[in-house]
Amino acid sequence: MRRNRKAKILATLGPASNEEAMIQKLHEAGADLFRINMSHASHDMMRTLIERIRSVEARCGRPIGILADLQGPKLRVGKFVDSKVDLVPGQTFTLDDNEALGDKTRVFLPHPEILEAVKAGDRLLIDDGKLHLRAESADGKSIVCTVVSGTKISDRKGVSLPDTLLGVGVLTDKDRADLDAVLATNEVDWVALSFVQRPEDLIEVRKISGGRVGLMSKIEKPQAIERIDEIIELSDALMVARGDLGVEMPLEAVPGLQKQLIRACRRAGKPVVVATQMLESMISAPVPTRAEVSDVATAVFEGADAVMLSAESASGDYPVEAVATMSSIASKVETDPHYSGIIYAQRTPPEATGADAISLAAHQIAETLKLSAIVCYTSSGNTGLRTARERPQVPILALSPVIQTARRLSVVWGMHCVVTSDATDLDDMVNRACRIVASEGLANPGDRIIISAGVPLGTPGATNMLRIAYISEDGAGGV
Ligand code: PGA
Ligand code: MN
Repeated sequence: MRRNRKAKILATLGPASNEEAMIQKLHEAGADLFRINMSHASHDMMRTLIERIRSVEARCGRPIGILADLQGPKLRVGKFVDSKVDLVPGQTFTLDDNEALGDKTRVFLPHPEILEAVKAGDRLLIDDGKLHLRAESADGKSIVCTVVSGTKISDRKGVSLPDTLLGVGVLTDKDRADLDAVLATNEVDWVALSFVQRPEDLIEVRKISGGRVGLMSKIEKPQAIERIDEIIELSDALMVARGDLGVEMPLEAVPGLQKQLIRACRRAGKPVVVATQMLESMISAPVPTRAEVSDVATAVFEGADAVMLSAESASGDYPVEAVATMSSIASKVETDPHYSGIIYAQRTPPEATGADAISLAAHQIAETLKLSAIVCYTSSGNTGLRTARERPQVPILALSPVIQTARRLSVVWGMHCVVTSDATDLDDMVNRACRIVASEGLANPGDRIIISAGVPLGTPGATNMLRIAYISEDGAGGV
């Protein structure tokens, strides 16, 4: 199966899509990888979903990526005597370390580290920002606030602290247990970290994960934006997590931040996913709004690697339609006459490495000679990433002997991956590339392609050669 678009689709699984038949339908409709949301999935459910995804993968013969999304330090208030209370702007309301049920004047905040970290003047946004409190004083045990706007608070509502740098690390106890369970499966390709604030957060997680999974930093805190270059450097990918980002920052800042983050990731050659409310109305309707279509299109025009569905595929009434809609928007945008001009306007020069020089040259040669595909041999995935960074218009086929690499690259713009063993010699390298590019439907006999590889063959990190090849009528390679 070959997709007719370069941007990838990441679909979240949930009650509406947990069954294997539905996972298969979503994959057929266009989902390239799946997100398991550890905020909701038990360890048993996570393992079941992995099994189901892998069995769909085996049936369709295409590598499918799996992303486990850790909940992170999502803060919540305690409960109330009557489960909710009404507040009046201007009144005083306190969050404290008293476990007793809350009332009109106070509520328990079961996070001692937050009681310590908040300073007078900081904002506390409750329930996705519907209630806005301002800290007037804080003594480590309680935070006395004024209600700035909003009138309701109820049991276990989320608390966002856009002005407070939290002393806690990015992993809660639950995240650590979830991460252990995820790593133990050996089947997960990406782990997403929620509410990353500092570069140190990545260092801490990488100590645990080693190289076993790719680390995707969810950018949803203003503190992360302040140190974004260092965070990108230490991450394997980024998610523009617009849901929480739009709570922690002014909503109108989100589109600009999306552009900034996509550009920074494209410069670094790291995959970037745009997430949340992309086709929100499709949770309950079979067609999206014009504004949503435009939002997905914008992310594709910006050159994002992937666009994500959340509740639309996890718990909505139209999961398959949502994936299919996203897929057709992306295909349409990519054939728009303005697309390549917009994409290339944001291209940045190569870094001074063999992989970048080769990737740039492969792209130029493919365009100059109107070749049908770029084939890159990539064992770690790095040459694949650098080739995708060029955003070439011709199809990219990545050949890897490592199934984990192929799965991980499923999130990357334009990557069509096939697992094949290392070539034995140069002839085999050319023949194999020609055969697979033809059998995958990316080029036809009579077409020419360009192949990048490293010699000696099978040496990771040694991409150093380019070869133009002609696909003969029997599908083998010629020169
Ligand atoms: P979430 O992350 O769905 O896990 O909250 C995405 C976002 O905040 O946009
Ligand atoms: Mn979030």
